[in-house]
Amino acid sequence: MSGCSCTEKLTIHWVEGWEKGGLWNRQEVPSMELRGVDALSSVVKNEAEIFIVLASANKIRDCEGCRDALIDMFQMPRSWWSEHERKSNGQFGCMTKTDDQESIVSMNTWARFLVKKLLAGSDYRWYKINVFIRWLGPQQTTILLFDAPAGLEQRVPHELLAGLSQEDLRDPFWVYGHLVEEVVVQQSETVWDNRTRIRTIEKGGGKLERSQDFSALNDLARHAIHISETLGLGVKTMACMLRDHSTMRTLLPGSARAASRRIHERLNYLEHLLEGQRQRAASNKQRLDQGMQLAFHTVTQMSADRSLEMSKSMREDSAAMKTVADLTLTFLPATFICAVFSMSFFSNEPGGGGWMVSDKMWLYWAITAPVTLATWLYMQRGWKERFKEWKKMSKEWREISNEWRKMSTERVASRGKP
Ligand SMILES: [Zn+2]
Repeated sequence: MSGCSCTEKLTIHWVEGWEKGGLWNRQEVPSMELRGVDALSSVVKNEAEIFIVLASANKIRDCEGCRDALIDMFQMPRSWWSEHERKSNGQFGCMTKTDDQESIVSMNTWARFLVKKLLAGSDYRWYKINVFIRWLGPQQTTILLFDAPAGLEQRVPHELLAGLSQEDLRDPFWVYGHLVEEVVVQQSETVWDNRTRIRTIEKGGGKLERSQDFSALNDLARHAIHISETLGLGVKTMACMLRDHSTMRTLLPGSARAASRRIHERLNYLEHLLEGQRQRAASNKQRLDQGMQLAFHTVTQMSADRSLEMSKSMREDSAAMKTVADLTLTFLPATFICAVFSMSFFSNEPGGGGWMVSDKMWLYWAITAPVTLATWLYMQRGWKERFKEWKKMSKEWREISNEWRKMSTERVASRGKP
């Protein structure tokens, strides 16, 4: 047999004579001390009615010796320790052992619930309830709570089992009334926390203060998906639990029927509460989708407005350039005259001969006239095309901006109320 490589210690809470006001005891035991022992009562040397064992499944899973010790003592299915079971985000299972008269000798049940708790900013933590329960009749129930969250661990055993009656112990499912209520409380906090954050976005009308807010929106959407997923699976887990409870009830003796019916009604009610939370989470998710679309359209509209402003600014720059061009054209004829009269085609003889014009003057006009005409035609074509493009672009921006403004107004007007 393999030795221990994890040095994990189990924290065992146990109570004897509970119905007569027996006090709870607490004891820490190395998990390897369970090896080769038939019952937990031998370890704590007491025939307790209720054992609550806190342990780390993550540590024990990797320690073959301790894992085998727990499997042997509590008759756990070996597959419970497999990797795919560890990664499961919700489950319920049971295993019943009966005698020749079809009476229950022992019943093992196990369940896992996940709740995503939202913290400040985009942080979060998973609140896991991972439990394995071995029921040996009204005289003894062992509850193995693996990797219990700190909040849950502090409430073991008194707060967690508040309202427990002696009659309840006759039903192997009695623990789930207490554990699932814990799940409902935690999920309720998460769903309403998420709803408050989404409401804050709705109040902002889709306006985002910083570009990082897009990242925060994406985180919130991811949380909403996970909350819906865990609640959907929680409802499914409850459906499996109720189905197996109904089957198991037919095997209970008549003396346990009343307690069993009461526990079944309680589980039914808790399932209904979880279903209500699931519907609320789905509604939150839809509201968030709508808020994200509104934020996207608002930012796009702002971008279109900025582009229109840039277009106006470019138009003003163009007007300034036209003034410069007009000024240049005003002085262009005078510049041209100066240039012509300074050419070598003219000469002003100092001896009183007056102005003389070269007989090759036609050469100047023969070259200048076609080149000027060609340049003017080219300029006319270019300006017309650019002016047409500018008019078309300006009209399109105006239409896009008006359309976004209209859509945004309609979305704000139709926004959902809390
Ligand atoms: Zn170990």
